[in-house]
Amino acid sequence: EVKKDDPQKEVIPLRPPVITVMGHVDHGKTSLLDALRKSSVAAGEAGGITQHLGAFVVKMSSGASLTFLDTPGHAAFSAMRARGAAVTDIVVLVVAADDGVKPQTLEALSHAQEAKVPIVVAINKCDKEDADPARVRQQLIMHSVELEEIGGDVQVVEVSAKQSTGLNKLEEALLLMSEMMDLRARTDGDAHGVVIEARLDRGQGPLATVIVRSGTLKQGAIVVVGHQWGRVRCLRDMAGAIVKSAGPATPVEVSGLRGAPLAGDSLNVLQSEDRAKKLAEKRQLIMEHDRLQKRNL
Ligand code: GDP
Repeated sequence: EVKKDDPQKEVIPLRPPVITVMGHVDHGKTSLLDALRKSSVAAGEAGGITQHLGAFVVKMSSGASLTFLDTPGHAAFSAMRARGAAVTDIVVLVVAADDGVKPQTLEALSHAQEAKVPIVVAINKCDKEDADPARVRQQLIMHSVELEEIGGDVQVVEVSAKQSTGLNKLEEALLLMSEMMDLRARTDGDAHGVVIEARLDRGQGPLATVIVRSGTLKQGAIVVVGHQWGRVRCLRDMAGAIVKSAGPATPVEVSGLRGAPLAGDSLNVLQSEDRAKKLAEKRQLIMEHDRLQKRNL
């Protein structure tokens, strides 16, 4: 973390925010993510990519970008946190305008508060006849959410994921929040990253979607990812295009690992294959030991 009065601050570049969508079941988290994915000016280039990679980037017309984690819900958020991977900078709390604040809305709220992650509220389904966004605002205020209208700093945006309305406003609100947070990360030096998702592809072998936290991940780098290791064979952005490198807050799909890591694993760059292999093997032994111990309990 960079201190406000640190003279070094200016040389550390700003980075995009990483955003997670949370809220009560059926309030429209998945629909909102779908609508946001399509709203990107770069969406045309992605041309019908439907594969689930765990994250996507919305490029705004201003040139700024927002990185969204594509796994809605607080289970994913908690699982990542439990593994020490606090990648989320901002939570979008989705509340359906017709249904209002529900138990899982409050659960999501407390998860965000515990993690000290600020929220932006998206009141969804505003296209519905029985939508009552004013009631939602009242409910949130009653639950001590400090909305802007009562002098707090929690922004509220009315949207319809179904009709794709209010999305620009939501993106602007997220950008504003991110600017207030002054999110920065160095781009020089070896990359540190976190695994969002991993899978085994028949053709390409183990693939991991990694969000770079700091530094720049380059093709050819020797990496340890959790209990796995490898040399980065190929990096692809979330639209499937091959890229040579990836900087902070950028999700990339990494190939070249010897096995699939786990979501929440951290990625580090090492100088030699020998060291990477030894470190991965050590971690595999520890994992196996822990597994056996749990079984014996
Ligand atoms: P999730 O469980 O929070 O991921 O919710 P979904 O995205 O699966 O949405 C639940 C239901 O609400 C689906 O039937 C959606 O079509 C519907 N829905 C989502 N967003 C909107 C919206 O903005 N307006 C309306 N009318 N329906 C919506």
